[in-house]
Amino acid sequence: MWKRLLLIRGAELAVLALLGAIPLLVDNSYVLGLLTLLAIYGILLIGLDVTVGYLGQVNLAQAAFLGLGAYAAGLGVAHFDFGMLAALAMALGVGLLFGTLLAFPALRLEGPQFALATLSFSALSATTLNEWEGLTLGAQGLQVSRPPVLGMTLDAPGFFWLCLLLLALVWLAMRNLLSSQWGRAFEALRDSPIATDAMGVGTYRHKVAGFALASALGGLAGGLYAFNFQYLQPQSFGYDLMVILLLGVVLGGRKSLWGALVGATLIALLPNLLSNRELFQAISAVGLLVAAVAGARGLLRKTTRPFQALAPIVAMGILMAGSLIVENTEDWRKAIFALMLFAVVVGLPEGLMGFAAHFLTKLFRIAPPPLPAAAALDVVLPRQAADGSALLELRDLKRYFGGVKAVDGVSLTVRAGEIHGLIGPNGSGKSTAVNVISGLYVPTGGDMLLRGKALPVGSLFKVARTGVARTFQNLQLFSDLSAVDNVMVALRGVYRTPIPLVLLGLAMGEEQRARAAALALLELVGLQAQARTRARDLTYGDQRFLEIARALARRPELLILDEPAAGLAHPDVNKLIEIIKRIHERGISIILIEHHMDVISELCSVVTVLDGGRIIAAGTADEVKRNPKVIEAYLGMTDDSAGAAAPALAG
Ligand code: ADP
Ligand code: MG
Repeated sequence: MWKRLLLIRGAELAVLALLGAIPLLVDNSYVLGLLTLLAIYGILLIGLDVTVGYLGQVNLAQAAFLGLGAYAAGLGVAHFDFGMLAALAMALGVGLLFGTLLAFPALRLEGPQFALATLSFSALSATTLNEWEGLTLGAQGLQVSRPPVLGMTLDAPGFFWLCLLLLALVWLAMRNLLSSQWGRAFEALRDSPIATDAMGVGTYRHKVAGFALASALGGLAGGLYAFNFQYLQPQSFGYDLMVILLLGVVLGGRKSLWGALVGATLIALLPNLLSNRELFQAISAVGLLVAAVAGARGLLRKTTRPFQALAPIVAMGILMAGSLIVENTEDWRKAIFALMLFAVVVGLPEGLMGFAAHFLTKLFRIAPPPLPAAAALDVVLPRQAADGSALLELRDLKRYFGGVKAVDGVSLTVRAGEIHGLIGPNGSGKSTAVNVISGLYVPTGGDMLLRGKALPVGSLFKVARTGVARTFQNLQLFSDLSAVDNVMVALRGVYRTPIPLVLLGLAMGEEQRARAAALALLELVGLQAQARTRARDLTYGDQRFLEIARALARRPELLILDEPAAGLAHPDVNKLIEIIKRIHERGISIILIEHHMDVISELCSVVTVLDGGRIIAAGTADEVKRNPKVIEAYLGMTDDSAGAAAPALAG
């Protein structure tokens, strides 16, 4: 624990101190310029990493925010006689404002459409800066003077120290934010937006907040950029810079502050390195070596496909050959960046820092921080009154897909404390019914009441906040997060610290309580030993159990399990039955969709049978088993699930 803290915090301090000390040791304005640029790019890339790394969105607007921030700061000084700090605050504010304005519409879009929206924004902002000559002087360029800070005039080292101080503050604040519920939510929504909403964590609002934050940092970096170069031209913030910034994030390593710093160092140095032929040859050689080592390592461990190992080696080989042939490397700049970007995206998806982290953690044997003791289950999941009152009522519920009447007039009541079985052949509308109840689909008709009040319609997020939780027939875990983090994302009523305090690092106590609560839920489903395992590395059965623990973190009144036993081996089915019994003991009502009739018989007090979107039978498990309509529906099935259900029905 202490060793870990010392090593990681110590490394941060050492790097900071080293960077800060360089101007005292070497009196060289060229080096100082590079260091200043490094600090500015560091802030910019930490911001960009929030969208590209954490949110997983291709953000092509960060260069534009740098430009907007730069012009805002420059014009603030020119027209309003702002001091340095006021101008920087204005640059940050402009980034935040435009980032928010862009985020609201753009983040309604997905993938390539979002990338295009940010690209359009960049074009719009570049054109405006260029054409609005009355304000920006257009292509002619804008002279910016460096204003005093709190009455003091800064010389070059002084300005560098200011940039470094701001980088350190941004680093600290972002480390606090990203290791809190916010950072987890960012990662969760990248892995499964649907599950994030279904766990009551608003995907859209978190994406907007993340993007606005990234843009604000872009704006702040822009302010520093303006006072560093003291001369602004719109074309500096265009396509070229955008590619370089993406290269910086991807090459340094996504989802990592260290990665952003490494990336910033590289992109601050790269243009200068390219102008020196011998240096460039050396870099190409190192690139080829890294590609070869990473490729060989991946192939040996069977974690990469041959193409993934070979393509970067070929790309770096071309670079190496080019560096020997080409005289004027600077003219080939874009091609060189493109080759590097390609090689990194394919061969080193975790970036240099991700690659190095494997070795560093082994070298220093850095253990993960210890887990707290699990909280008491009675506190995490208080017993509820299972009084048999009406909990969920469906009245004539309908959902059509074009001509397919997937759910066609279903009415039923789930009572507090019961395990309500929902069965029926494949395609009978069970999942669709659950998807309508939980807000994934809008109903075509009918009413849904929870404790007599209308359930929100067509919003996973809103339904999740009413006390209904669900699992998914096709698993929807946050696959990159550990088991305990998966549960922590979903915890209800724990995270209360407002964001300014989170940035200041004052959410630690809350985090610790959340982790203890999540561990109690993992214990309930028998996963305490796998708390730190990444969800994607769990066995299939354990993944199913983890989804149940995660849903329980909502402290639901009603838990909907969509075929939790599908694909489970026999011992796991028994384990599942035990888990469901334990959940039921706590007074939580359950809707259980299931094919195995023996599971239904053992657990359910009431069973509703669907066929073709309609209810064909309802009653106790024994009653529906003997119902001729039910037997016919199951025996009439042609697909493979008939084999599973029919013998059970007959017996
Ligand atoms: P079950 O869960 O009982 O196996 P589903 O609810 O998944 O059944 O499906 C019921 C019917 O609705 C099927 O005919 C299926 O093809 C159709 N269906 C389900 N979801 C969609 C969708 N998103 N678009 C179109 N048809 C759908
Ligand atoms: Mg289904």
